[in-house]
Amino acid sequence: MRGHAQQEHGQGDGQSDGQGDRHGHAHGPQGHDGPGCCGGHGAAGDVIERAERLCQARGLQFTRLRRDVLAAVAAEHKPLGAYDIAERMSAPGRRVAAVSVYRALDFLTEQGFVHRISSRNAFVSCGHEHGAGAGLVFLICRTCGGIDEMTAPAVESALDQTLAGAGFTPTSRILEVEGECGACRERGDPPDTAPRA
Ligand SMILES: [Zn+2]
Ligand SMILES: [Zn+2]
Repeated sequence: MRGHAQQEHGQGDGQSDGQGDRHGHAHGPQGHDGPGCCGGHGAAGDVIERAERLCQARGLQFTRLRRDVLAAVAAEHKPLGAYDIAERMSAPGRRVAAVSVYRALDFLTEQGFVHRISSRNAFVSCGHEHGAGAGLVFLICRTCGGIDEMTAPAVESALDQTLAGAGFTPTSRILEVEGECGACRERGDPPDTAPRA
C-alpha cells in the first residue's frame, strides 16, 4: 500500500525521463561529504533509541537485524538503497543478503522508522513524531544528495482538496521535490551531473 503522489520526477531509477542536462544522482557509494546541508535528522542514536522504545510499546521485536539496518540508514544523510545497506553491514566472513535487508526495511517502513524515497528506490530514517498518515515533503538535493523531510500542512490541505475534486482517495501523500539545498546554493557548487553508478 504505497501510493505516491509524486512531483517532478518519475519513478524507479529513470535515467531516461528526457529531462536533459541536470539529471544526476549525487549520492555515491563512498559516503557523504562534509557537513550536512539539509538540516538535522537527529542523531542516529536517538533514532534507534526511539525505535526501540516504540517497538517495546507496540509489542514488536526489534531484532538485531532490524536494528542494524536502521543504524545503517540513520548514519547516512542520504537515501540508501537496500544493496548499499547490505554492503555496509557485510564484513569479511559475514555476508548480509539484500533480501534480509528488504524484509527488515519492510518492517521499519511499516512502523514509520524509515521512509522509502520512491524516485531513488532508497530509504531514509525518520525521527520525527508525525502520525502514520501524515503528508510529507522530501527535499532532495541533486548537488550533495542530501535529503530533508518536512511536513507542510498548507500543501497537504491543498492536495487533499485537489484529490477530493478528482474523486481520488490517496493511500499516502508523499511528495518528492528535487532541487538544490540552501547550503549548496550558498557554496555555489554546481549540481553533480554524473550518472548514478
Ligand atoms: Zn518521517
Ligand atoms: Zn545540498
